[in-house]
Formats: sequence, C-alpha cells, structure tokens
Amino acid sequence: MRIVLLGPPGAGKGTQAKILADRLQVPHISTGDLLRENVKNNTDLGKEARDYMERGLLVPDELVAKMLTKRFAQSDTKNGFILDGYPRNLNQAETLDTILQEKNMAIDFVVYLDTAEDIIIQRLSGRLVCSVCAANYHIKNMPPKVKGVCDNCHGPLSQRTDDREETVRKRLQIYKKEVSSLIDYYERQHRLRRIDGGQEADIVLNKIIGFAKMLNDSLKV
Ligand code: ADP
Ligand code: ADP
Ligand code: ZN
Repeated sequence: MRIVLLGPPGAGKGTQAKILADRLQVPHISTGDLLRENVKNNTDLGKEARDYMERGLLVPDELVAKMLTKRFAQSDTKNGFILDGYPRNLNQAETLDTILQEKNMAIDFVVYLDTAEDIIIQRLSGRLVCSVCAANYHIKNMPPKVKGVCDNCHGPLSQRTDDREETVRKRLQIYKKEVSSLIDYYERQHRLRRIDGGQEADIVLNKIIGFAKMLNDSLKV
C-alpha cells in the first residue's frame, strides 16, 4: 500500500500515519519529522531548513525532494509507505510521481483530511510531541498516561515551536494557497479520497482502512 495523507496542519496526518504504518507494516515517512531530525542533528540540510520552519514557511522544494529521494532509496519502502506532509504544492506532487515512476511505483490513493479551522486551532494549541520518537499527543484529546512523558519511549513531551499562534496562522495561509491545486491534481487522477478530519481518530482510521481494503480485499489489517 502506498498512501499519501493530505490535510492542513493539525488534521491528524501524523496520528493516523503512525497507526496505519503499524497496522499495514509499512514505514511512516513524514517530511516534517525528517526535517526536524535534521535540524536537531544540525546537518547541512537542517541548517538550511531551520529558518523556514521556524517562520512557518515551506522549505524549498529542491531540498525536500533531495531528502525524500534519499529516503525512498531505503529498502523498507519496497512494500509500501504512508507519506505524511508531502506533497505540499503542485511541483512537489509532480516530483513525487517522478521519484516513484523511476522505481516503477505509483501512489494507490491520497487521503484528504478535510478539517475545519476552529478544530485545527484547538488541536495545534494543545499538541505535544515526543522529542525522542516524535509520537503525537494532545493535552486534552489524547493525553499521555503520565503528564509530560511519552507512553512509547518515556521521552519528554514538548510543544513544537511552530505551533505558536502567529506561526500557525502563517502555515494555514500557505496551506490554503496551495491545497486546491493538489486536490485538483489527485481528483483528475481519481486518487483522491475525502474524509472529514474533524471526526474521532478511530472513525477516521477505519475509513482509511476501508479505502485500502477496497483496493486490496486480501489486505490483512
Ligand atoms: P504540520 O503538522 O503542519 O502538517 P509538518 O510537521 O508536516 O507540519 O511540517 C513542519 C514544517 O516542516 C513545515 O511548516 C515546513 O516548514 C516544513 N515541511 C514539512 N514538509 C514539507 C514539505 N513537503 N515541503 C516544504 N516544507 C516542508
Ligand atoms: P498533523 O500531522 O496533521 O499536523 P497531528 O496528527 O499531529 O496532525 O494532530 C494534531 C493534534 O491533534 C495532536 O495533538 C493530536 O494528538 C490531535 N489529534 C489528532 N487526530 C485527532 C482527532 N481525530 N481528534 C482529536 N484530536 C486529534
Ligand atoms: Zn516517545
């Protein structure tokens, strides 16, 4: 299964991707997580990306494309993947198709987690992320078992610096500008599957699994 998760910041892409990756036994590829990892390790890419990320702007397409090509060269992507946070604009969608075509692969479907702005704001203002394994929590909606501590790895939880209200507004503005061209692109390819991202997480999950089963009814999940 090769699934892309599309949606505004806070739509639940990371949350869904992590569960799906586990259920489908394929890697979760998050360009946001990969970029944050590079920033944390102060790599050349991290040094270039940091400023864009802190301001809520997109990191230049060429940089992200290079990073993603490297990730797809790893053998664990052979049996599929859940891609989260890429593509963010039409140019990236075309780049993704090119990267995959070179490997004789194509996306199976794109889940569009359509989510209202008031829900996004509520979710991002309470989002907590594990600084070790990148697991997502929410102070009210999905609290960790122990306050401030990751259930999976006991790492410390913190708020992302780009989840400040000012930066969220910038990210949303960029998202809105780019999303319609992506929706058109995947609708034309008959690959778009729309889900109301404001629903409870397990309802969203079951809908995505339903779409996957429609394509492959022998799928064991
Ligand atoms: P969100 O939770 O808003 O969906 P991500 O974790 O996906 O956020 O991304 C965080 C930041 O990383 C973005 O604001 C952007 O600066 C950068 N980023 C992530 N993915 C991409 C991408 N595909 N293209 C350009 N920049 C990206
Ligand atoms: P994205 O990757 O799209 O930016 P996340 O998966 O990080 O979004 O989710 C944003 C925040 O909302 C997190 O704090 C997460 O725990 C919470 N969340 C995710 N899905 C739901 C849901 N269906 N209902 C309520 N809260 C959710
Ligand atoms: Zn953790």
